[in-house]
Parts: sequence; structure tokens; C-alpha cells
Amino acid sequence: MSSRKFFVGGNFKMNGTIKSIKAIVDNLNQASLDSNVEVVVAPPALYLLLVRDNLKPEIEVAAQNVYDKPNGAFTGEISTHQLSDSNITWTILGHSERRTLLGESDAVVSSKTKYALDNGLGVIWCCGESLDQREAGQTVSVVTGQLASLKEALGTDAAAWAKVVVAYEPIWAIGTGKVATTEQAQEVHAAIRSWLSEKVSPAVAEATRILYGGSVNEKNCKDLAKEPDIDGFLVGGASLKPGFVDIVNCHL
Ligand code: PEP
Repeated sequence: MSSRKFFVGGNFKMNGTIKSIKAIVDNLNQASLDSNVEVVVAPPALYLLLVRDNLKPEIEVAAQNVYDKPNGAFTGEISTHQLSDSNITWTILGHSERRTLLGESDAVVSSKTKYALDNGLGVIWCCGESLDQREAGQTVSVVTGQLASLKEALGTDAAAWAKVVVAYEPIWAIGTGKVATTEQAQEVHAAIRSWLSEKVSPAVAEATRILYGGSVNEKNCKDLAKEPDIDGFLVGGASLKPGFVDIVNCHL
């Protein structure tokens, strides 16, 4: 059994209303959650404070994105300072929807990640390949290429890496109902850990949580969670439903 604390993130994406988000918060507040699991939910920016002010404190809250400048003329963006000021302690960065739909490059994602870490946030850093890349046998090279860009920004600084949670999210599995098999996920997670060991340090590789994301639900989570290099999940669609609690409690 690894010493890494299991981690389950819920990414609400651009979903919800005040009413439906309050219902999710009420459900989480009433649920009995495995205390060995770190739980972080990421509502849309507009609802961050609503969630933080109403959710029990043992569940942390993440933004879905943050900018890499302290303040100023950056219309539509949110700063690390504004998040910290609102008791938001995490951010997701590099989600494939932002990489593909909004054109965020590896360099942009790495710069934002460095800035967020330097300014006290934890980062759920996402990587993953498209279906074409998987079919071309490029999965590991795509993911390690994304990691290499992150390493350019962070170097081998163990204190910075300690606040990074890596989310491996094959793009073809996100929101499609097509979950990676346990073998497919474990293979990539093991490759990520071995890359971290070789390029950053064995200690960072051992300590870093590597999450799987892509159509995780309360039915498929138990088998995925048995894999030695799967240290949790980043959950999209299922995080909006009561079954999210069963994903958090997948070891019980
Ligand atoms: C995600 O968006 O991070 C995700 C994994 O989505 P879903 O669980 O809906 O596939």
C-alpha cells in the first residue's frame, strides 16, 4: 500500500446554477467521506465563494483556471491572490478542454503552474493524449512531452512538485463514457512515475499523486483504484451527481 494520500477531485466544468450547486454542497456536507481521501471540488468561478462559504472545511475548493500575473488589465481572468483571499487553495491547470478549445500551449500551462505554485496554490495539472495520438502509439511521448515542459518551469524543486497533483486524462475518455481499461491507465501512470523518477527525482516520483480522469463513475472506480500507480481520480460529469460520494469512498 502506498503512502500517498488518495485524492479525488470533482471538476464541475461550466455546469450548474446556484440551486443545483447548493444541492451538491448539501449532499457533500451530509455525506460521510473516507477520511483517508483528500477531496477537492472545482466549481465554475462564479460559484467559488458560494461553495467555499457553505461546504464543510475538510473538503477543499479549486478554481478551474488561474492567470499568471498579480493583477491588472487582464479582462476575464482571476489571480492567485484573489483565490487565496477567498480561501480557494487549489486550481486545475492544463485541462484538455482549455488546451484544445482555448489554445493553451504547454508553455502557457507551465508558466501558469509555476506562478500558481509560487503563490501558494496547489495545482491539479492535467495531461493526456488524443485518440489519434494513442492510435499512432504516441501516448507516452505526448504525456512525457507535456511533463518535460512542466519540468522546464519547475526544475527539480521538490517543494514545488509537492504541491502538484498530476491528472492523466486521455482526451478520448473525457466525457465520452469510454473509460480507459485498468491496464491502459496503469501503464501510463507507471510511465509517468518512472519519468518523474528519472528526470526529477526518485523521491518526487514516490510522493507525487497521479490521478486518472476520463469517464470515472461509481461503478468503474473500484477496479481502477486497485492499480498501484493510480492515486485517485479527477471526475467531471459524475462529480455533479450523488454518486461522487461513492467514488470518494471507493476503498470502503
Ligand atoms: C474531466 O473533465 O476532468 C473529466 C475527467 O470529465 P469526465 O469525468 O466527465 O470524463
